[in-house]
Amino acid sequence: MKTIGIIGGMSWESTVPYYRRINELVKARLGGLHSARLVLVSVDFAEVETLQSAGDWDEGGRVMADAARSLEAAGADCVLIATNTMHRVAPAVEAAVTIPLLHIADATGQAIAAAGLGTVGLLGTRFTMEQDFYRSRLAERHGISAIVPDAEERRYLDRVIYTELCCGVISEESRARFRTIIAGLVRRGAEGIVLGCTEIPLLVTAEDATVPLFDTGELHARAAVEFSLGG
Ligand code: GLU
Repeated sequence: MKTIGIIGGMSWESTVPYYRRINELVKARLGGLHSARLVLVSVDFAEVETLQSAGDWDEGGRVMADAARSLEAAGADCVLIATNTMHRVAPAVEAAVTIPLLHIADATGQAIAAAGLGTVGLLGTRFTMEQDFYRSRLAERHGISAIVPDAEERRYLDRVIYTELCCGVISEESRARFRTIIAGLVRRGAEGIVLGCTEIPLLVTAEDATVPLFDTGELHARAAVEFSLGG
């Protein structure tokens, strides 16, 4: 079994499900008392969020690269950045270590392609929805076109992610609004919805949509176990 390295804490609310799902999947594959070999470096999300808001992706990249180096030094065989947003600095992480980065958009793109879908709606932070790093990865590597909510809806989603979901707040009112936004994307042609923020599955489930949902944290966890145990 290879050792999985995780950069977590962004937010810790979504790192907990990663730890649980990776262990559940290893147990399902190997049975008995088996559990995952893994190393976790958990950052202070307040510091990371300050860099995101300031647009200081260079420093954000240095923070992520330091964490990845710690993982490699601790014996990790791969690196997962347990958030979609900080994949904005994936190249800095890849440059810092010799072990592979398992990219969350690849795990997601492969699942969408396997489901035979070509157009999806993308929900996430404003960075993930508005900047190019995520949508272009889906398009160029997986042939998937991602549409995003309108500007007001994007601001709303971003606010709920940082002020509710990352703080462990689950609100029925927000769930209803997410449902409306998802329905709007489906009307515009989305054949599936990417929950492109690892906290969104804490709020939104399959019942909230008429099309398949792609839980990026779950898909990323599966990719990690596949890497660790082999196909
Ligand atoms: N975990 C979220 C994501 O998947 C947002 C938190 C962050 O900014 O890293 O993008």
